[in-house]
Amino acid sequence: MFDIEEALEKQHITLTAHQLEQFACYYDMLVEWNEKMNLTAIVDREGVYKKHFYDSLTIAFDYDFTDQSIVDVGAGAGFPSIPLKILYPSLKVTIVDSLGKRITFLHHLIEALGLDHVYAIHGRAEEFAKGHRESFDIATARAVARLNILDELCLPLVKVDGDFLVLKGKAGAEEYEEAAQGITTLGGRLVKDVAFTLDGDDDHRHNLIIHKVKKTPAKYPRAFGAIKKKPL
Ligand code: SAM
Repeated sequence: MFDIEEALEKQHITLTAHQLEQFACYYDMLVEWNEKMNLTAIVDREGVYKKHFYDSLTIAFDYDFTDQSIVDVGAGAGFPSIPLKILYPSLKVTIVDSLGKRITFLHHLIEALGLDHVYAIHGRAEEFAKGHRESFDIATARAVARLNILDELCLPLVKVDGDFLVLKGKAGAEEYEEAAQGITTLGGRLVKDVAFTLDGDDDHRHNLIIHKVKKTPAKYPRAFGAIKKKPL
């Protein structure tokens, strides 16, 4: 039986009673709203705590989010940025998702959890980049697109010296090889590939930390059609 408190204690992270209540409220709202709209295929309590909440937090084992600003591209029902915000109350979160219904859910969730400095915006990352280039300390994404597409959606949003944190499944290393050239073009450099399995099962993950070493050339991101047709 998966216990998030126990799993996080192994990483020397102790959740407060308030944080545990926030996760409980998040779970209840996710399941309730999922009956009205498609938010997640996983609805059992253990599955949500492990494959959504805990999985979103694994990147915090290798990265300090204190006082940072983060943009979460394609957060859907809020992963990974809402669990990270619960863990790091000082985090400033901007979510950009192209599905309006999910943004509506997030607005209700943000209010119910009492989160400040969390903005959920309905839009596409490549459009959002036009007004918010190199504006965030961190960009993150989980389960949105292959890395050779995702890099162009995310890296333009990151400040030079910031990081692009990618949560990938078992194909993470392969996807990186395919995207490596494009990541260099966009101003990124891989600094860490954390390979692990989720809580000891055979669910393989790669958390990639890509540092922004130089500015992204102004011509990126291109329109989504061009990105998809000819990834860098
Ligand atoms: N990150 C969440 C997770 O890990 O559960 C949600 C993943 S869901 C499979 C992918 C989300 O990405 C969808 O909500 C979709 O609307 C959004 N998305 C896809 N392309 C996008 C883009 N170019 N800009 C913003 N959101 C996008």
